Amino acid sequence: MTRPRIAVVGSANMDLVATTPRLPLPGETLLGSDFVMVPGGKGANQAIAAARAGGDCVFLGAVGSDAFGVTLTGRIARSGVDTGQLRVVYGSSGVAVVMVNTAGENAIVVTPGANAALHGLTEPELAAIRAADVLVAQLEIPLGTVLAAASAAREAGTRVVLNAAPARQLPAELLDAVDLLVVNEVEARAIVGAGRENPAALLSVVRRAVLTLGAEGAWFVDRDGTVQHAPAFAVEAVDTTAAGDAFTGALAVAWGEGRELVEAVRWASAAGAACVRRLGASVSLPDRAEIDALAG
Ligand code: ADP
Repeated sequence: MTRPRIAVVGSANMDLVATTPRLPLPGETLLGSDFVMVPGGKGANQAIAAARAGGDCVFLGAVGSDAFGVTLTGRIARSGVDTGQLRVVYGSSGVAVVMVNTAGENAIVVTPGANAALHGLTEPELAAIRAADVLVAQLEIPLGTVLAAASAAREAGTRVVLNAAPARQLPAELLDAVDLLVVNEVEARAIVGAGRENPAALLSVVRRAVLTLGAEGAWFVDRDGTVQHAPAFAVEAVDTTAAGDAFTGALAVAWGEGRELVEAVRWASAAGAACVRRLGASVSLPDRAEIDALAG
């Protein structure tokens, strides 16, 4: 089987994660117990997830001219993602400063940095989108860029998967260009005012949608009449960060391979479950063998 071509347009952040016994109060300095620096941002995570799941993946995004940009590009490239078109813009990279306490609670500040400068897709970037089987986008970059990418994809027959995160309302123009919307419950409520009590409500704005519900699994709905629940795989959850990214990346690959969406959602659920078994956002994204082993 040839590997499906996946173009991901989205954010790249460096996550700076400090573990402390408790979260500091304003003005307080605490001694932390541990520190890690891992690539993050939904765009980079989903690109890495798609490459590990077996996609031939190109990442379209922007990093800053700082040391984080160099490290981020290297880490994404080493995951097998084509970073040849990753922009380097003057200034800081997107950074997430994360504090995690021993109870697993966190406090996070994200500064978008270079992600906010991802405007005006270039001809080579548009060409990469048109050449892909599936475009994957999220909402951590300027909305106009997401719309331009989705429009170019649609015109070229590239299927558009939009993971509408973080939650916000969306213009009809963008929803019209989406072939498959992937949302969690918070995001679904922001778009159609309904969640698990009525997954099919999403069909009032898009052709097809997946509503993910963490350990409660996922719903797939299609205007052809399909309303199907994919139960979650039973795993011991250690860290649920990036489960949605693992899910979306794997879903794009399976759909790009030509699998039926009901089956693609089941396989993507195995990817999400495999991800939560391990600590650490992007480093916990599963590879194809691991997804296959869990999916059975
Ligand atoms: P998000 O991180 O975007 O909120 P979810 O938490 O809904 O996304 O996770 C996406 C998918 O990953 C779920 O639909 C499910 O298939 C899988 N998943 C997430 N958490 C678990 C879990 N604790 N156990 C098993 N599967 C999970």
